[in-house]
Amino acid sequence: MSFDSLGLLAELRRAIATQGYTTPTPIQRQAIPVILAGRDVLAGAQTGTGKTAAFTLPMLQRLHTTDRIYPGRGPRALILTPTRELAAQVGDSIATYGEHLPLRSTVIFGGVAMPPQVERLRRGVELLTATPGRLLDHAGQRTLDLSGVEILVLDEADRMLDMGFIHDIRRVLKLLPPRRQNLLFSATYSNEIEQLASGLLQDPALLAV
Ligand code: AMP
Repeated sequence: MSFDSLGLLAELRRAIATQGYTTPTPIQRQAIPVILAGRDVLAGAQTGTGKTAAFTLPMLQRLHTTDRIYPGRGPRALILTPTRELAAQVGDSIATYGEHLPLRSTVIFGGVAMPPQVERLRRGVELLTATPGRLLDHAGQRTLDLSGVEILVLDEADRMLDMGFIHDIRRVLKLLPPRRQNLLFSATYSNEIEQLASGLLQDPALLAV
């Protein structure tokens, strides 16, 4: 099976080809069509399975092929990650896969100065990848408007819970508009993940690799 049958735009297939990928991984095969169709997803996938491309590719396509649902200039897609390293990796993947699309993306995390992040947010982005604490700092300072988020991704949700981010995540959720697509990726399942998923996801496609 090749990437051609997954319904991805030529611009994205070109970026994939540049990376040298010829075959979608199992999580990509399952997730890409479902996410393109606009459904919520609960996916069990570890690092190394190609999960980042599994959500970034269809997310880029949906943002490119649909009009903004909500008014405002804030991000249309928000990806929450447990660590700065993962946030930076996801941001790099978005830049790589989105290189032929006119979508702006940035990454914000703690431990570095706020002003450059404020400036990048002020200029406008369609996709924002962030760690929860710094995201809330910006939202609290009103340097970030989350009222336009149409797609939410919780990446490595189990690690975020392990690191004690559940309250931050719940605070973020309150700042988002009610109607949106939600994607939850987790390497492991637990009661806490179940609880988070049941409050967040509507009729999710259940994917496991
Ligand atoms: P991830 O699980 O998202 O951390 O991805 C693991 C690694 O697999 C990354 O270095 C990707 O560049 C690579 N990768 C993702 N999708 C594919 C694919 N379809 N074919 C080959 N490599 C891939």
